[in-house]
Amino acid sequence: MSGIYLHIPFCLSKCAYCGFFSVPSVKHKAAFLEVLRQEIIQRKDYLHGEKVETVYFGGGTPSILTIEELQAIFKVLRDNYEIDPKAEITLEANPDTLSLEYLEGLRSLGVNRLSIGIQSFFDNDLKYLSRKHNAEHAQQCVKMAKDAGFSNISLDLIYGLPTSDAAQWNRNLDLFFEMDIPHLSAYALTLEPNAILTKLIEQGKAAPVNEDDAVRDYEILCRRAAENGYLHYEISNFCKPGMHSRHNASYWFGTPYAGFGSSAHSYDGTSRQWNSASLAGDASSVTRETLTPEQKYNEYVMLRLRTMWGIDLKYLKREMGERFSSYCEQQAQPLIAQGRLSQTREFLYLTDGQMLFADGIAEELFY
Ligand code: SF4
Repeated sequence: MSGIYLHIPFCLSKCAYCGFFSVPSVKHKAAFLEVLRQEIIQRKDYLHGEKVETVYFGGGTPSILTIEELQAIFKVLRDNYEIDPKAEITLEANPDTLSLEYLEGLRSLGVNRLSIGIQSFFDNDLKYLSRKHNAEHAQQCVKMAKDAGFSNISLDLIYGLPTSDAAQWNRNLDLFFEMDIPHLSAYALTLEPNAILTKLIEQGKAAPVNEDDAVRDYEILCRRAAENGYLHYEISNFCKPGMHSRHNASYWFGTPYAGFGSSAHSYDGTSRQWNSASLAGDASSVTRETLTPEQKYNEYVMLRLRTMWGIDLKYLKREMGERFSSYCEQQAQPLIAQGRLSQTREFLYLTDGQMLFADGIAEELFY
């Protein structure tokens, strides 16, 4: 069992808040795709022939690729890896790149999960974020995705915006729930050091971000998601039962995955590697790191605590030894006494309302 991640670093323009590696131009797209093709072939033994159960196109804006370009990538993938016929195949898309014809093309290639970067259904929010689409098109493209036959759809929304108040955030959520979409990824607006928005705020040219707004919106989000029958399965992710992202969950369950393209990460079960954040970010410019047992434990604790599955103490004992499982249980005791963690016989979970503090709690459990 394994996964494949492909990073497509091109966008139509640069959003003001963006801290990802992405290039607002398609000038080097053909050269990049050739490097990507070679990387997919050269690293075909990385997954040791394991069946691929999830494929994820992230970015950037993967939907900037034409159907023909995507078809060529799928051919190289299928020629070199055993892709499970039931694999979850996700493509991240931005509304400004979508049409019904394009979405039908994606379906015909086998893409069966669509993650759409809506961010907000309100024009004042979208303008603040300098997104290319408007509120009307945000709604239209969800309808188009359904018309094209997609049922496994995820929407991205951003909260904690100075252009929005609690009423507007509630209205964004109303629209999401009315659309009956099975998955939501919601992120607080964060000011990345290299983002245009950060500089604009520093210069007094854009409204500042208030952390209290993000906390308020997150509480609204958690409450309303639960009321509408969504599982809060990871800090930023909510889904109808059974509709979680299988690809993202595989990161939390330690499944090996190969990452191709600029800045993509890979993990083979013991070591991690990542391509450089450049357009030529291929296997020739890779950084490798073999995790020490302590790093492996800390990483497991941090990732799993952020999820509804929690820390599996039996797994810790089996995979990392008594030393780590006992240490974890011992460190957890004061947190359990404070009501921040709860423990069943095999699992340690965050208690209700503690998701927002998951990273700080994980640090208390670190070795
Ligand atoms: S679409 Fe996404 S990756 Fe591209 S610039 Fe905007 S935020 Fe960054």
